[in-house]
Amino acid sequence: MSARIPVAVLGATGAVGQAFVRQLTGHPWFVIAEVGASERSVGKRYADAARWLEGTLPAEVAALEVVPCTPDAIRSPIVFSALDSGVAGDAEPAFARAGRLVLSNAKNFRMADDVPLVIPEVNASHLALLASQQRVRGWSGAIVTNANCATTVMAAALAPLHEAFEVRQVLAVTMQAVSGAGYPGVASLDILGNVIPFINDEEPKIEQELGKLLGRTDGAAVHHADLVVSAHANRVPVEHGHTVCLSVGFARRPSVAEALHVLRSWTGDALVQGLPSAALPSLIVRDESDRPQPRRDVMSGRGMATVIGRVREDQLLHLRLVAMSHNVVRGAAGGSVLNAELLVSRGLVHRETGALQLATLSASTFARPESAA
Ligand code: NAP
Repeated sequence: MSARIPVAVLGATGAVGQAFVRQLTGHPWFVIAEVGASERSVGKRYADAARWLEGTLPAEVAALEVVPCTPDAIRSPIVFSALDSGVAGDAEPAFARAGRLVLSNAKNFRMADDVPLVIPEVNASHLALLASQQRVRGWSGAIVTNANCATTVMAAALAPLHEAFEVRQVLAVTMQAVSGAGYPGVASLDILGNVIPFINDEEPKIEQELGKLLGRTDGAAVHHADLVVSAHANRVPVEHGHTVCLSVGFARRPSVAEALHVLRSWTGDALVQGLPSAALPSLIVRDESDRPQPRRDVMSGRGMATVIGRVREDQLLHLRLVAMSHNVVRGAAGGSVLNAELLVSRGLVHRETGALQLATLSASTFARPESAA
């Protein structure tokens, strides 16, 4: 690819927005042309508006002026959105109506029938919904969503097992990092040395989204997987990395050895392999009895891998295991960028202009190559 596609980051000053800036800096296909945020930040240099959280603020974005999150102020064809749900509900459709491709991290459109909710290694084919989305809504652009960051951990870990044995019941207990609450997020005196057994609106998202992610699409809709999820969401004093303890029941009960074999053999959708942000392997199974741990494992695969451990029999359901991934990278910015890379690589986004070209969508666009797991 010769020229890089200009892209914008909405909510660029927040925790996920900053992760987008890190993920996109030096990207081979995309270049950050615009950054948007609230009135508080508009008109400032990005370096002055963002209280930069990790490492050095990339020089190429430091001097960009922060602009309002509207399609008049932002001209880029691809828009990565790290907006809060209170803002995303109006802002993201405005961009889609104006012909832009929106990669959203907000909850607003995830469960809509015509909106793809995508983890590329797991359900790339759900992107075929974009054609009916444009038809139904009359948009020339489109919205693609990421899953909730705790659901992302679960879906990545359970997809191989679902494919082999059909997941039917999931009991999930999460231990979610403070960066999942954004910046400045949870007050330090509330979380240091503490566990908070409640995260607003988190359990319903986890309970609803998994069935859609593991469902199958006929191109017009997603037929949700026939499973039930019970979630307990907890905030813990960890910087990055959501850990989820899972007990799982299946239509066909696997032995621990069979489950481990399936998890270790999983390569995800082969269409994703080789994309700039893809981790290979995207799933890592650890043998140690005390892994995964956020401190040691969160940056596996540059923050894009899901790490699994403690696969064993369960006294209530069939199997239990622990899974963990980086909530801000895998569960947010990195996941969105991977979605955009997949759309470019499948020819649905023009490689130089960044324009959506859904007329090229066909039954073979997301067909899995023979080697896919
Ligand atoms: P955050 O740190 O609070 O950042 C919010 C961003 O939105 C800031 O850039 C803020 O700009 C901007 N903003 C607020 N009000 C606005 C307005 N009226 N107009 C335009 N911009 C506005 O939140 P976050 O953690 O990055 O989360 C962003 C989104 O990602 C949320 O929908 C969240 O649910 C989702 N998400 C987060 C995670 C995670 O791990 N953190 C994971 C998955 C999904 P100012 O600085 O100018 O106020």
